Amino acid sequence: MKTKIAVANGDGIGPEIMNAVLNIFEASNVQLEYEFVEMGKSYFDAGHSTGMTALAKDTIEKLGILFKGPMETPKGKGVKSINVTARKVWNTYANQRDFRSLNGVDTVFSKAGIPINLTIIRENIEDTYGGIEHLLTYDVAVGRRIITRPGSEQVIRYAFEMARRKGYTKLACGHKANIMKLTDGMFLEVFYEVAKDFPEIQASDIIVDDLCMKLVSRPETFQSIVLTNLQGDIVSDLCAGLVGGLGFAPSANIGDNISIFEAVHGTAPDIAGKGIANPTALLLSGISMLRFLGDSVNAAKIENALLYTLEQGVHTGDFGDKTIPASNTTEFANAVIANLGQTPANGAVVATQGFEERGEAFKPLKNKLTSTAGIEEEMIGIDVFVQSDLQPAELAELAKAVLTDNFNLVMISNRGTQVWPTGSIFTELVNEYRVRFEKKDGKAITQKELLLIAAEFSDKVKVCSAEFLMNFGGKIGYTLAQGQ
Ligand code: NAD
Repeated sequence: MKTKIAVANGDGIGPEIMNAVLNIFEASNVQLEYEFVEMGKSYFDAGHSTGMTALAKDTIEKLGILFKGPMETPKGKGVKSINVTARKVWNTYANQRDFRSLNGVDTVFSKAGIPINLTIIRENIEDTYGGIEHLLTYDVAVGRRIITRPGSEQVIRYAFEMARRKGYTKLACGHKANIMKLTDGMFLEVFYEVAKDFPEIQASDIIVDDLCMKLVSRPETFQSIVLTNLQGDIVSDLCAGLVGGLGFAPSANIGDNISIFEAVHGTAPDIAGKGIANPTALLLSGISMLRFLGDSVNAAKIENALLYTLEQGVHTGDFGDKTIPASNTTEFANAVIANLGQTPANGAVVATQGFEERGEAFKPLKNKLTSTAGIEEEMIGIDVFVQSDLQPAELAELAKAVLTDNFNLVMISNRGTQVWPTGSIFTELVNEYRVRFEKKDGKAITQKELLLIAAEFSDKVKVCSAEFLMNFGGKIGYTLAQGQ
């Protein structure tokens, strides 16, 4: 019986490379049946605000697998990227990108005889990609960076399981927990908690800037790396560069119910319609989809044919030996088809039945909600963010005037640096301050009292926003200002 999947051709070069890949699948006798869905720029233009028809949404939710070409998001106000939206609404929480040196694709490392074979797992939902941003004053924009315990656990567990399946011995966590102590700190804490369930895999962590330096100097020392969303986005493009560029970078967006397979690159508008695009990245994504669906035999057959074709020097115009004439997209795909059954001299892939098998697609009856129960919470105070052109000491006088018996004025900061009660005259200021009120020792306070402080303060100065200060499980749940 054939497995049904949803296919979206995409925009720009999308239809050309999708056609090439599906032709290769057909020649290899892949047992898939396609339901083509309507998604992409023309559907935005036709008035579908999410860039897809209701039928496309239903089909993808029913089938659980979407194989997609790149899609263009119309520029302009209010339109969210269809690619990011699809990943978020369907909770494809793990973005897996496999990078390996390919014979026939010259890079600095291949020329030096250094092989690269590494996998990046990027968290795919959270972080700054919530796109929750506000102007607090005309001069000051802030964005919320959301890292959650359940979200971190989902992606980190997937990363360890992936490492186990692939027979990796090492998984590193890239982070910036030295600066972002609560957000990246939580990601790192969860990483080491989950690591306990995978004793055979050596877990380590590395600060993301150091990671970038080591990836470009000693990439062969890494096997797999898990990162938060934005850092993972940047690091995975860096890795694409290590193995020859975006034309060789596949991507799988894995969720519990729905998974999306696509190339990392975009619609390449500069070459769209010319029939010269490189289908390799989409083909590699399709190969990982076949493995995910349990068809490791066809996955290995097609991958070996691709590697053999590249070894023969066959290439599209964007890479390869310039002394050999470039193939167009169709010629490249036909070369892979002709080489089905061939084995590359280097790095032949062996089929492992059952590798990366997919669970049953099912439709949940309600949205899943995860929260940690039984954690003791204590209310400590409030940070009130205000707009002001006053000097710190002048603002402190206004703040003191709203204090009740239960509270102390603890600190005022500007751009995260403490400026009151102590600070430096050399600290440059903008017109937005954080004013911290904390309860006095031994006092019990209510949330209403904290909101009343902010309300009273708003009579004296413009309040932009407020954030409660909490302790959870006896641990401080907010950061101190630099210099505090
Ligand atoms: P791009 O990846 O489309 O193109 C960057 C450069 O790489 C171009 O010179 C292009 O010709 C080349 N290139 C990309 N893929 C190629 C291929 N398969 N073969 C040969 N050359 C290739 O990036 P961009 O120009 O920044 O983005 C164009 C559009 O794609 C934008 O609308 C963007 O939003 C969209 N986009 C979509 C996705 C996605 O669907 N997941 C990802 C990235 C960008």
